[in-house]
Amino acid sequence: MKLRVYSLAIATMSLFFGVFSNAFAATPVDVDIFNGETATVNSYLFSNGESLVVMDLQRSTDEAKKLSEVIKAKKLPLTHLLISHGHPDHYIGMDWLLKEFPDAKVVVANEDIKKDIIGFSTWMESVGWLDAEPALKPKSDKNPNGFDYENNISVLSGETLSLVGGGELALTTQYLPMEAEHITTVYVEDINGLFTSDFGYNKVHLWMGQGVTNAHVNNWKTQLAELKERYTELNPTVYPGHGAPSDIGLFSAMITYIDDFQKITATAASKEEAMAEMEKRYPEYKEAGFLLKNSVDFHMQH
Ligand SMILES: [Zn+2]
Repeated sequence: MKLRVYSLAIATMSLFFGVFSNAFAATPVDVDIFNGETATVNSYLFSNGESLVVMDLQRSTDEAKKLSEVIKAKKLPLTHLLISHGHPDHYIGMDWLLKEFPDAKVVVANEDIKKDIIGFSTWMESVGWLDAEPALKPKSDKNPNGFDYENNISVLSGETLSLVGGGELALTTQYLPMEAEHITTVYVEDINGLFTSDFGYNKVHLWMGQGVTNAHVNNWKTQLAELKERYTELNPTVYPGHGAPSDIGLFSAMITYIDDFQKITATAASKEEAMAEMEKRYPEYKEAGFLLKNSVDFHMQH
């Protein structure tokens, strides 16, 4: 009898403390996906029920307008806009998003990624590619009203981005140059989710165009194998930069794709033949006309 009273007391106590601690425990971090139409690039909205962080910001202001409606519908304060790497399909939307959410901060994981972004925009302006997105032309003496990359992009210190209200994103940047010179992957423990950015493409042709040399492509393959090994035990959901979520099987599929691409571009009689062969092997893959075409052009002389 005494024992029963004792265990009842413990049960009551744990119920009390359970309720008590729940009142203060953060809601786990969850994710919503925004699929951009342009280049099938993904933005990820992380939320803990109290605040929002968005990863990757789309290739055009038009896409950013759609993304900002999705963010507004969440009815939560947006604190950070995280850009994973210095490619325009992941950052052009920042000008519009900063106008819509002036309290949000654009952040990158290191100084190199900030330099990549500024370098890419400077180059794009020089070849006229920013004429379609004039607000993103870099601020300079010649263009004092241009976009102020230097002051608008902050570099995070440390390898975690904490959400206001609890939960965190674990950032990794120790990668060799591959699809991009520098890249950030994000792991979210609460959902066992690995956000690979452009390390990962799912049923979308890989970008192996301008700047992605054969050495970069080989680095990419090596690191895909390493990533697979590192995450096998955790077996996370893999959220790629382009295409739908998958699992770590995606990494092996990508290695096979890259092997095929290297063999075909080394042996095909013409760029047209290489394109046709890749499209035949990967008929359901998206963006052949842009991503595959630029990749074949860059890796073949004829
Ligand atoms: Zn991309």
